[in-house]
Amino acid sequence: MPEDCVFCAIVDGDIPSRTVHETDDVLAFLDANPLAPGHTLVIPKEHHQHVGDLPADLSRAVFDVVSELTPRVQAAVECDAANVGINDGEAAGQEVPHMHAHIIPRSADDGGEPIHAVAGFRPDLTDEELDEIAADVRNA
Ligand code: AMP
Ligand code: ZN
Repeated sequence: MPEDCVFCAIVDGDIPSRTVHETDDVLAFLDANPLAPGHTLVIPKEHHQHVGDLPADLSRAVFDVVSELTPRVQAAVECDAANVGINDGEAAGQEVPHMHAHIIPRSADDGGEPIHAVAGFRPDLTDEELDEIAADVRNA
């Protein structure tokens, strides 16, 4: 584990967290600088930076917790919506280089935006360009 990883330090108990759920491989705790009451982070206990770095079993374990916890977080803060997302890589806004999923409770009058807002603008792509990109992804 990298010595300066804040989430590894939380897993090791060297930094306190408001833990809301824990399994052998996964930890979920409240974000210390929340975007909404109940803003929760779900992390693998093992250090990996990117979602694509997770071994399959660990990926399943993380996403099982995200799926199970999202309605529980909503119930706890009495709302029925949430944005669930991952900043995967520095250019996408990842500040802590230890993979984590954000569960951000939402309500109709919170003044926030849908997840579509994160990319800034929609590129104007032709059908041919979309076909090409789909092929590139299939073949990558
Ligand atoms: P990201 O930009 O996706 O890497 O988000 C990192 C998140 O971690 C931010 O929302 C921070 O508020 C949160 N965070 C950083 N340090 C801590 C900590 N010690 N305990 C809980 N949350 C933290
Ligand atoms: Zn770490």
